[in-house]
Amino acid sequence: MRLDLHRHLEGSHSAAALLAVAREYGLQHPLLQDEAALRRALVLTEPSDDASKFYACIQVARLAYVRPEVVGALAYRAFAEAALECDGFEMRVSLFSMTRAVLENQRVDWRAGTPMAFAEQARGLLLQVLAARDRAAAETGTPMLVRLGFSRAFEAEPYQRAVASVVAEHARALSGLDVLGIVKGEDTEPLPSALLSILRGLRGVLPDLTVHAGEFAGRVSVDRTLQLEPQAIGHGVRSVESPDTLEQLARRGVTLEVCPCSNHLLIPSSLASLKARHGGRHPLPVLQQAGVHAVLGSDDPAPMGTDFRSEWARAGALGADMARLEADAARRWAQLQPPGTRPRPTA
Ligand SMILES: [Zn+2]
Repeated sequence: MRLDLHRHLEGSHSAAALLAVAREYGLQHPLLQDEAALRRALVLTEPSDDASKFYACIQVARLAYVRPEVVGALAYRAFAEAALECDGFEMRVSLFSMTRAVLENQRVDWRAGTPMAFAEQARGLLLQVLAARDRAAAETGTPMLVRLGFSRAFEAEPYQRAVASVVAEHARALSGLDVLGIVKGEDTEPLPSALLSILRGLRGVLPDLTVHAGEFAGRVSVDRTLQLEPQAIGHGVRSVESPDTLEQLARRGVTLEVCPCSNHLLIPSSLASLKARHGGRHPLPVLQQAGVHAVLGSDDPAPMGTDFRSEWARAGALGADMARLEADAARRWAQLQPPGTRPRPTA
């Protein structure tokens, strides 16, 4: 099975989907009327170490987040389009930032409202996304998982806590938790203590944790993330800076979710130095050779101008062991399935 195990909803809104939904719901923003202008604003054209260029593309997709039902329509198209590229996938959903985007597009001063009012808005969006997933999965027959993402650019703690309490009520529809995003400053991949406290609480009902690490920051970021005992790490390619880190990952059986196109576009300088360190080899085969479980993801295919099939071909061209990649994806997929329900006693 070819499984896309690292993909974000906000980065999965194609120009075609945004235009179609804008037409269907009468969205007025000028960028959502003009196909050529939308594609120029939505898709990265060249590699850059400046992540703000990537975030600008995500902001363009968020222009369409004007009402919960519009987010639902976009989510449905994103799930259905992803199903065309692979045999199964997991989609990450940044519920807090999506909720904030909808309210800000409606010019609502959400900070003037209560955390629970914000969280109920978040619940409305989550239900739209889950219904879109269920519909796309039923229509395509492709299994689809949804993981809840929390931004490490942590703000508005009471609002985040309220969203977490809502998420807990829907835990059975989700596969786990993710920490994502980078921040400016010396530490680009921090783990704020308030966020860790929220994650600790939620792991009682959603134990599977993935954390973006070792992408914009070095192997130290991976080392400290391992203390949280995550099941997987998003990217983590900078682990190849250290034999110790590689050994830890292999020994603990932690999976690295490698996204080749994403790394090529967003961390070109780091990628070049990682390759130089390993005789020109890409981190993916280096990880595999070190005995680290590695799976493949498309990350944000719309702004990155990629899809999962291209990522698969790219991994082969980079010298990855494709049979091993498939076996590691199957192993991780099995970890993500909900525990089987016991058969009902017959007597
Ligand atoms: Zn990611």
